[in-house]
Amino acid sequence: MPELPEVTVISEDVADLASQREVLRAAVFRPDVTNVEPEEFGKRLVGRTLRGTGRWGKIIVLDFGEVVGLVHLVISGRVLRLPEWREPDRMNTAVLEFGGEGEPLVLAFTRLWLGYFDLYQPGEEDRHPLISRLGPDPFSEEFTVEYLASALSRKAKVKGLLLDQSLVAGLGNIYVDEVLFSAGVHPTRKASTLTADEIHSIHAATRDILGRAIELRGTTFDSYHDAFGETGKFQHHLKVFTRAGEPCSQCGTTIVKSRVAGRGTHTCPACQRAG
Ligand SMILES: [Zn+2]
Repeated sequence: MPELPEVTVISEDVADLASQREVLRAAVFRPDVTNVEPEEFGKRLVGRTLRGTGRWGKIIVLDFGEVVGLVHLVISGRVLRLPEWREPDRMNTAVLEFGGEGEPLVLAFTRLWLGYFDLYQPGEEDRHPLISRLGPDPFSEEFTVEYLASALSRKAKVKGLLLDQSLVAGLGNIYVDEVLFSAGVHPTRKASTLTADEIHSIHAATRDILGRAIELRGTTFDSYHDAFGETGKFQHHLKVFTRAGEPCSQCGTTIVKSRVAGRGTHTCPACQRAG
């Protein structure tokens, strides 16, 4: 039988592949990538069934019933499907083997020295330092127009506020530029000067653009879906990001690149109101 290739998967695929399958083996390479003792990591997971997966901002949530795994892969981290069990190493920092019918399923969470794979009891995960500081996920019920209006009722530049993970979880640099272009708002606008209509547009554009990005599995270079290690197709749908010097798709004005909130920022000077 030919060896199965190594394949990059994304969090949605983890659910498809591993849901309702039991963990046969689990191990981590280094003690500092998890919040439990390395031998505890395996003990707590083996015998448990993956009930589902979720996403909390940039964190993948793995629901094992009595245990909840929080995985933060950070920039170059990936979920890889390995052909067979392999002891974790520096590259494949955490490895889980699942039982059940069909082909063997071994998932490696790579390069976790920059991220982590923490285990919590259900309900306890809210105490995770990153999660307790995270604002609502854009697809959650808490992310209402009213919530966004209150989060943006400050004098700071709208781009800086949208990048602040404690206000909205998971919006990365690329998507903030795309959302603000779609809403016709310049990134340097003081948030407190936004009209109700503009806040409405930003809210709708956030869900619309992130929704399409998830469908197309992200871009290759943004944080929102880089967390899942995906080479995405959404980059071909970007309207301003990486398009400096090109004509605006709406009005033909040249897209400019500047620096706002410390980040490379792409805008159409004609379509986006500066104030
Ligand atoms: Zn334009």
